[in-house]
Amino acid sequence: MATAHNLGFPRIGAGRELKQAVEAYWRGALDADGLQQAGRALRLRHWRLQAAAGLTSLPVGDFSWYDHMLDTSAWLGAVPARFGWNGATVDLDTAFRMARGRAPSGADAPACEMTKWFDTNYHYLVPELQRGQRFRLASAALFEQVAECQAAGYSARPVLVGPLTWLWLGKVKGEPFERLTLLEEITAVYREMLARLRAQGVAWVQIDEPILALELPAAWREAFATTYRALQGGPEILLATYFGGLGENLALALDLPVQALHLDAVRDPAQVAAAVARLPADKCLSLGVVDGRNVWRSDLAATLDGLEPIHARLGERLWLAPSCSLLHVPVDLAQETALDPELASWLAFATQKLNEVATLARALREGRAAVAPALASNAAALAARRASSRIRNPAVQARLAALTPAQGDRLHPYPVRAQTQRARLELPPFPTTTIGSFPQTAEIRKARQDFRQGRLDEAAYNEAMQAQIALAVERQEALGLDVLVHGEAERNDMVEYFGEQLAGFAFTTQGWVQSYGSRCVKPPILYGDVARPAPMTVAWSRYAQSLTDKPMKGMLTGPITILQWSFVRDDQPRRDTALQIALALRDEVQDLEAAGIGVIQVDEPALREGLPLRRPEWAAYLDWASLAFRIAAGGVQDATQIHTHMCYAEFNDIIQTIAAMDADVINIETSRSDMELLDAFERFRYPNEIGPGVYDVHTPSVPTVAEMVALMRKAAALIPPDRLWVNPDCGLKTRGWAEVEPALANLVEAARQLRAECARA
Ligand code: GLN
Ligand code: ZN
Repeated sequence: MATAHNLGFPRIGAGRELKQAVEAYWRGALDADGLQQAGRALRLRHWRLQAAAGLTSLPVGDFSWYDHMLDTSAWLGAVPARFGWNGATVDLDTAFRMARGRAPSGADAPACEMTKWFDTNYHYLVPELQRGQRFRLASAALFEQVAECQAAGYSARPVLVGPLTWLWLGKVKGEPFERLTLLEEITAVYREMLARLRAQGVAWVQIDEPILALELPAAWREAFATTYRALQGGPEILLATYFGGLGENLALALDLPVQALHLDAVRDPAQVAAAVARLPADKCLSLGVVDGRNVWRSDLAATLDGLEPIHARLGERLWLAPSCSLLHVPVDLAQETALDPELASWLAFATQKLNEVATLARALREGRAAVAPALASNAAALAARRASSRIRNPAVQARLAALTPAQGDRLHPYPVRAQTQRARLELPPFPTTTIGSFPQTAEIRKARQDFRQGRLDEAAYNEAMQAQIALAVERQEALGLDVLVHGEAERNDMVEYFGEQLAGFAFTTQGWVQSYGSRCVKPPILYGDVARPAPMTVAWSRYAQSLTDKPMKGMLTGPITILQWSFVRDDQPRRDTALQIALALRDEVQDLEAAGIGVIQVDEPALREGLPLRRPEWAAYLDWASLAFRIAAGGVQDATQIHTHMCYAEFNDIIQTIAAMDADVINIETSRSDMELLDAFERFRYPNEIGPGVYDVHTPSVPTVAEMVALMRKAAALIPPDRLWVNPDCGLKTRGWAEVEPALANLVEAARQLRAECARA
């Protein structure tokens, strides 16, 4: 029989219960017992749901209060010294302090760095590694959850981040050393973990090693065999890989001493045949055939065409699952009662995907006839989608076909533009600005919600938003910032806001996906050709500019970020979709310019996460991604200053592409990684202006003037001061004014000090 299973279920809950509970705990509105109870309820609900779908062994440990990489660091006892942890087990508040810098108990400390999980929009807490670091089993949370699952009558399959993946994603702090020297001791802790799980009656564990989809140095490849040999003797191991094909690591993975191997058959269907041919006789093969990264219904018949011969050969040794953890898709389509039925019939969320896996497994076991109605409705929905006129707009396709790369070029090179812009904007040295959004207060959220739900009419809503803009302008003027923003009060999400106004996008009401910690996003569903029926931001920007003599920065989300943070169509190349978005944004940029907006920021925080996992594929992506940006932003006069913003990532290896995007100013995230980004500028002289973020907006701490001045001095050592800006490292929407005002006051003061220093020099 073909086993249906799952690598992980979304932990947030269909109603984002996890977010509510965790945030209530942080606020002090819920105590630790209440929090634990909320967690137990969610876990139980998700196990029941998976069991009801027909899965036999259920993932445990996919749940997390904040992040599963952080949990792994916790149970390995890998807690940086600044968190003052010296207990036997890593308690909840220590883990929360690692994530956020603060928690209801314990002293505040700078949070751990956070970065994107492979090519997803999920962020994990980066493990910190030190020479000679010691590890020990320091959390019993997983054992408790296993017991919970078993007590509910299920067969628990714990899910662990693999030791090599954990170590690979860790970052060396302090004196440089070879990370692999830590592996032996880490492996010993894993052994202990596995032994205890086995003693609990666990038959199988799932160990995730997604780094097998990357190009690995020889030493790391070799470390797999030794490590997994050492992990034998506990429960049977399902080694899970995802987000890509294993390439040259496939043979290695097949030969590892584990009992089952999971492959992502959606991202790399071609590796399946090779794996089946080479599969050792004592191993099971789990195929991830249902896309865990997108929301479209699977083509069940086509999938079965591929699976039936494999099943004939492997029989019980063939398992079926989604391609990766379902963490990356919304929980349940059934909640989307407002979605139009035609579109809904094309979709599958986590719950539906489990049914697809179960249907496929049953078709293999009992024959297609046993699931004939499910197959028929699936085929009908797919045929309807292919034939639907809603996905096609001939005018958009014609414009795309006529597009030439030269349309992305500015009229003159940066040095010429810079002069024109200086004359127009008259900014001081070290100009200050922010990244766009200001705190989304309860008042703002209420106004937006009232408007959406019809309690506030459009005129009253516009008035409320204008009042917020006026307030933001007033505060910025009082703080003494140089280039102002309108504050984005009208946007609940930087992608959704644009998607809602563009043709080709659809929206869910509950389609939340975890982004980091308690923060969830609701990605739009991009199902058809993209067009802009009307200007999207011009009225707000024009109003904001009317309130001030300072330059008001127009604020748009870039084409790659819209692409990356949406669930995009799978029926045309991503490049074409990106360029369609770019053309729509180009019209918006030009309309802003015509409305007198002299500074326009096109945010591309997601540029880097779109990079293919394997390097040889980078160039092609970077080529069309930067073209899309330039098409969107490039159609303006010299005097219009284009800004871009990128965050949360390392740019060293794509700095050339960033330069080629030719924004006049780029503001970037650097503060959390301590200006590490600037390494890139040692080797590559970034030709235009740059604002290295000196205020880490991801924690509630208020940076001091001295801290920010120090960071800027580091930057000024590498970048001519007349090309430097002073700004936070991201938007401020998740913060409160109580922290933002003093932080920005310090930032403005830091700029003043830098100006004075420069004048003296
Ligand atoms: N302009 C956006 C904001 O300030 C940028 C957000 C982001 O980079 N994620 O909110
Ligand atoms: Zn940002």
